[in-house]
Amino acid sequence: GASDLECDVVVLGGGPGGYSAAFRAADLGLKVVLIERYASLGGVCLNVGCIPSKALLHVAAVMDEVSHLAALGIDYGGAPKLDIDKLRAHKEKVIGKLTGGLGAMAKMRKVTVVRGYGSFVGANHIEVEETSGTAQEKTGKKQVVQFKRAIIAAGSQAVRLPFMPDDPRVVDSTGALALKEVPKRMLILGGGIIGLEMGTVYSTLGARLDVVEMLDGLMQGADRDLVKIWQKMNAPRFDNIMLKTKTVAAKATDAGIEVSFEGEGAPAPQTYDLVLQAVGRSPNGKKIGADKAGVSVTDRGFINVDIQMRTNVANIFAIGDIVGQPMLAHKAVHEAHVAAEVIAGELKGDEALARSAFNARVIPSVAYTDPEVAWVGLTEDQAKAQGIKVKKGLFPWNASGRAIANGRDEGVTKLLFDDSPEAHGHGKILGGGMVGTHAGDMIGEIALAIEMGADAVDIGKTIHPHPTLGESIGMAAEVAHGSCTDLP
Ligand code: FAD
Repeated sequence: GASDLECDVVVLGGGPGGYSAAFRAADLGLKVVLIERYASLGGVCLNVGCIPSKALLHVAAVMDEVSHLAALGIDYGGAPKLDIDKLRAHKEKVIGKLTGGLGAMAKMRKVTVVRGYGSFVGANHIEVEETSGTAQEKTGKKQVVQFKRAIIAAGSQAVRLPFMPDDPRVVDSTGALALKEVPKRMLILGGGIIGLEMGTVYSTLGARLDVVEMLDGLMQGADRDLVKIWQKMNAPRFDNIMLKTKTVAAKATDAGIEVSFEGEGAPAPQTYDLVLQAVGRSPNGKKIGADKAGVSVTDRGFINVDIQMRTNVANIFAIGDIVGQPMLAHKAVHEAHVAAEVIAGELKGDEALARSAFNARVIPSVAYTDPEVAWVGLTEDQAKAQGIKVKKGLFPWNASGRAIANGRDEGVTKLLFDDSPEAHGHGKILGGGMVGTHAGDMIGEIALAIEMGADAVDIGKTIHPHPTLGESIGMAAEVAHGSCTDLP
């Protein structure tokens, strides 16, 4: 049939994966159409994820710091007063600044942004149904985009438990970020990063927290030694941390949402003013007409790709949350660049570009809580499970001058080096993690060390500036190779 728009590459979804792919493809000289159902670009990350959560977490962290100052002789007097409308407006302003910037960048690169809901109608065509307003109402207007290559970047959405009542007091992360009011009692369903970040914000603003987690610990995936410290520091925020416990029923009452639990840490049914569902995110693979293009989608809605981000259909690629874990923006961006480069290489006959591939060894994770927890590569438990012998370098921040000066010396930096016989005592770094303030800003160095194949001497002999928290990485490496000078 006739197409309204023709392009080299169409990108479905304007999140970090989608806009990064579109921009890279345009920079490489391709004609690009970017389809997004919402009025603003940026996807989950900029609109209802990474960025608004960090805007609020920053405010919470400052509030928590200030509350400690009285003990140091600086007393602001009394409890802080919250103007929630102003705080919400601040968060909206942060989002607007970033998403507005993306719109301008798309224009500058001559990327055609089409507003609407996209769905494949064939292996070279997507139909876009125009949407308008903030609730993405369909206007009935349709157009067809014809493409040589497509990049699917349709992302994911929060999982909803089937028995949760449809009630304004039950929210997902998007609802929690809307910051309608601060509840007295809040339940966090799921002890992962997203739930604990939102819990941090709400508890600093005055809410009492309960958290329920099916598995045997909070922040799964992070090193247990680090999580233990986080949990000790955060204990005052919680009335009840329920591990190995499931939520089995919930009903809306006048008093709140009454929730029933089952399992090891299960109390009698409890009533909450706000329930945050943070039990995972499900990919949008089944909502884009993938079958019409012949693209395979798994039962759970993921799209499998190879290391060039190609799906089972040769001219269709996929990136970001929709291709699998970890569902993180920085992973999506790197995958986006690979897909755009491979496509540009193929369409322009540039063999080097066409060989681009996603072969990162590690992808760091960060919980931007207080303190932060950041980790990358192998953890000690994983090493044990995989039978890999490791040498540990542990540096407690109570030996760090900077951490002590900051009044925040609860942190720990932990590095793991290969200690197998083949490594002959010069094993490469396999993983590392930190708990402590600004841990997320420092984890990139450990990721770089892993990518470069550094050993403990490389890291320990690298001169880190004194006094900084980043020094703890060099110190931990020195501990591992056994020559730690004790310079606090
Ligand atoms: P998305 O960001 O989900 O974007 C997909 C886009 O596609 C959306 O804009 C959607 O509207 C659009 N779309 C989908 N289907 C269609 C269609 N059929 N037609 C038109 N448009 C469509 N990650 C981090 O790395 N760091 C963090 O600190 C962090 N914090 C987070 C906090 C929260 C509360 C949440 C929920 C997530 C957080 N994440 C964080 C995860 C991060 O947001 C995602 O990994 C990232 O947004 C994935 O990017 P994406 O491009 O794959 O998809």
